[in-house]
Amino acid sequence: MIRLSVLGSTGSIGEQTLAVAGAFPERFSVVALAAGRKVEKLAEQVRRFRPERVALAEESGAEKLRTLLREGGPGAAAPDVLPEIAYGAEGLEEVAVHEADRVVAGLVGAVGLRPTLAAIRAGRDVALANKEVLVMAGALVTREVERAGVELLPVDSEHSAIFQVLSGQRREDVARVILTASGGPFRTWSAERIAEATVEQALAHPNWDMGPKITVDSATLMNKGLEVIEARWLFDLASSQVDVVVHPQSIVHSLVELVDGSVLAQLGLPDMRGPIAFALSHPERLPLEVPRLDLAALGSLDFEPPDRGRFPALGLAWAALEGGEAAPAVLNAANEVAVAAFLAGEIPFPVIAATCAAVLDAFLGRGSTGSGGAGLRDLEDVLAADAWGRAAAHEHIRGGRKGREEGREEVSA
Ligand code: MG
Repeated sequence: MIRLSVLGSTGSIGEQTLAVAGAFPERFSVVALAAGRKVEKLAEQVRRFRPERVALAEESGAEKLRTLLREGGPGAAAPDVLPEIAYGAEGLEEVAVHEADRVVAGLVGAVGLRPTLAAIRAGRDVALANKEVLVMAGALVTREVERAGVELLPVDSEHSAIFQVLSGQRREDVARVILTASGGPFRTWSAERIAEATVEQALAHPNWDMGPKITVDSATLMNKGLEVIEARWLFDLASSQVDVVVHPQSIVHSLVELVDGSVLAQLGLPDMRGPIAFALSHPERLPLEVPRLDLAALGSLDFEPPDRGRFPALGLAWAALEGGEAAPAVLNAANEVAVAAFLAGEIPFPVIAATCAAVLDAFLGRGSTGSGGAGLRDLEDVLAADAWGRAAAHEHIRGGRKGREEGREEVSA
């Protein structure tokens, strides 16, 4: 029996994790859950899985959960024993270090870094869906993984593909890895049309059903850039060994080229239950009831190079990797701020990438005078880089908005 803790249990990855775990009750017991603000959904999960410990973002949420659980729910009596209920950063960390075999890191964004590091330091194997953890702190996290002797199991579909393909291969035989990108909803759009893209259009991903932040990242191709950084750390590669090809059908999940020119790929229909199940059960595989791949019915698979002109966010990943250990954290922070501003209707779509580029440039310029290329010794260094990136992004967006407003006034004057 594998004991699972799930960070972000009411999000897209968390729900699909529980769907997989719930389909194999003889293999998995869910012992701890952490959610944000979706109290009702967490109450349902507690009634079904009876975890020992849960956490919510806020105290009011924790209170509400306690009430909901005492009352019992639709079709479910109140549990005989309530789980330990906590809240805030402390509650999240308690779930992360709770006695478990595997922790599913399914939070989105920088908020997942601290609890994931805590889980690693507590000796837990981590199924990592929260890519920002490696993007922000790849050097630090991989050092801690080695020190703790735990396993980092990728959940991201591309990295799961590479992980699966690499098993049984000698590391020195790998020439490069090639991440596939769907190209997102704007793959065939002109730059002019992309400039006018709405939030709704950015959230309409052609193949994958994901949360809003990562879906916008897929539309800018920043998601692929973050995955380039993630791959560099997960598989201990040079940045020049990570490549990207656009593959609109999302059937080939990624490829590995070996030194003899042979290329190995992992294929499947786009369904996150596959990579989640593999990360939960590795080295075994689960007999999943998912639709099967029928290549003859598909007929053809297409590939094309990514267009760095229409999607300038992608190239920033390599620039960040070459800019020292802290630069990816700065890039990630700028992107989180810019995506939130876009989702709030505060900036047009192209300003997401423009903000990231400007902030990274400023950071790398600062580096040449001394401090920017610094290493990441501990969590505080990562959080400092993150805070620097956030502040610079807010400033860039404020300045740009002022400029755009003045521009409009000039036009209307
Ligand atoms: Mg992915």
